[in-house]
Amino acid sequence: MIFDGSKIPNGKVISAQVCIVGSGPAGITAAYELQQAGIDVILIEGSRWNGTQRNESWQEKPYFYNGEATGLFTHNEPEFLIRPTQQYSQGPWERERVYGGTSTHWGGQCRPLDPIVFTKRPGFPGWPINRQDLDPYYSRAAELCQLHTDNFTSQYWAQVLQADVPALAGFNPEMYQFIGPDYTNFATRNFNGMPLSQANLDIILNANLLEIDHQQGSVNGLRIASADSGSPPQKLTEFTIKAERYVLACGAVANARQLLLSNVGNEHDLVGRYFMCHPDVLAQAVTITGNYLSSSEMRYMAGQLPNGQPWRDANGVYVQARFTPNADAAVSHNTGRCWFHYDGGHYYFEMTPNPNSRITLSDTKDPVFGQPQTRIDWQFSEGDEHTYQQTTQLFKSAVNQLGGDVSFIAWDSIKNQVVVNGHHIGTTRMSNDPEQGVVDANLKVHSLDNLYVAGSSVFPSTGVSNPTFTIITLSIRLAEHITQAIQGGNYG
Ligand SMILES: Cc1cc2nc3c(=O)[nH]c(=O)nc-3n(C[C@H](O)[C@H](O)[C@H](O)COP(=O)(O)OP(=O)(O)OC[C@H]3O[C@@H](n4cnc5c(N)ncnc54)[C@H](O)[C@@H]3O)c2cc1C
Repeated sequence: MIFDGSKIPNGKVISAQVCIVGSGPAGITAAYELQQAGIDVILIEGSRWNGTQRNESWQEKPYFYNGEATGLFTHNEPEFLIRPTQQYSQGPWERERVYGGTSTHWGGQCRPLDPIVFTKRPGFPGWPINRQDLDPYYSRAAELCQLHTDNFTSQYWAQVLQADVPALAGFNPEMYQFIGPDYTNFATRNFNGMPLSQANLDIILNANLLEIDHQQGSVNGLRIASADSGSPPQKLTEFTIKAERYVLACGAVANARQLLLSNVGNEHDLVGRYFMCHPDVLAQAVTITGNYLSSSEMRYMAGQLPNGQPWRDANGVYVQARFTPNADAAVSHNTGRCWFHYDGGHYYFEMTPNPNSRITLSDTKDPVFGQPQTRIDWQFSEGDEHTYQQTTQLFKSAVNQLGGDVSFIAWDSIKNQVVVNGHHIGTTRMSNDPEQGVVDANLKVHSLDNLYVAGSSVFPSTGVSNPTFTIITLSIRLAEHITQAIQGGNYG
């Protein structure tokens, strides 16, 4: 059931077994899975809006999400924190503050991270878990997202599309499934036949996390506030939520801000560092001339049937493939992951983790609760130029072998045009070593026994697959871990 935080009186203390903060795909998935396991869950969402209209969060987003954006943002996306990307100039696009989070307008493009992403590579720290650890949860995520299948192999999709798989030296044609239109918006979509708002759990809108109250290694409660409908709104009520365990799921930028505001998990000055994304070049970065694929191979890449129509299943799922360097090519050239469209256009890559690319607290204050806003400094490193130079050359020589040719924009020009493109990653990263990561392999903040972080802020590296399928997968795994810990009476 949905409650309005402004109706909860000042000073009230509310209890639950688990409290989840943030109602994007990370928070809603964890809440649903916990509720299904019989856990008493409260999901809180800062926004007053119920997520049914695409642009409604715009009205209050700037108050909470604004701040200072420097580094690459200064030139490329000065309004990053509240209103990029230039690609979507008509609306409040980069991230949302609304019930359903950014799932209210994301693209629904899904693929698991490749096994190589979890390994330690030069410049990339490796994950404390591997792809096999996640495979069962990826399967469950495919079900939850109503994908066609959890099978992403070329062989499987060549059969479905009755198409030939291109053989491009050093590259895999990797298939992406897009979630059908009825299932992308986590605020309105059905879970087990009904929206989450009708399931047996409490959702409180207009419930903004102000502070994580902690002492001696445990969170004691969350200070939560509602706002009135003024312009700007003003604080209306303040109440407390006490739970056995807490999950922070506010998106990768706000997760870091919330931990910094409460001085939580930052014993090794890691919170907010390693901000990454999948930099996207909106201009024609890659131009391909000549025919290098057969028509059947092009159909495979475009996800089309022999009659040239896009393939779709009963739930509206559709597919497209992209060329990604295979593991051998990536290892021998020491590159991050990347992908190319078979017909050129965008170039999209994995940033090398850089501690100076980071989120801190700004000197500016939000006008509603008077808390420091976000300062975000987006920085590239040498590894990024290396990935670009090496992978574009690899792609060119592979296409040349098949009779086509490729030209690219120079790196300096790329640097001045890339945009973040909606995928915010890495600001509370996962490591078994507290000196290397904010959360452990169970997503628990190292220095607290009952606070977990959900979302792409925990990824130690980005890979090149869109992040949300892995966010959902990790939230399913987190819910299972918390359920077992509560039922077994364990901490950790
Ligand atoms: C244009 C666009 C297209 C995209 N397309 C794709 C795609 O095709 N595939 C893909 O994988 N990903 C895509 N993404 C990325 C995807 O939207 C995000 O990865 C995903 O929404 C992140 O989920 P989340 O739950 O971690 O965070 P969010 O969805 O950002 O949700 C965070 C929630 O926390 C709430 N919140 C924040 N602060 C507080 C607070 N203090 N108190 C209470 N609540 C708070 C917010 O209101 C929000 O509801 C796209 C993004 C954009 C912008």
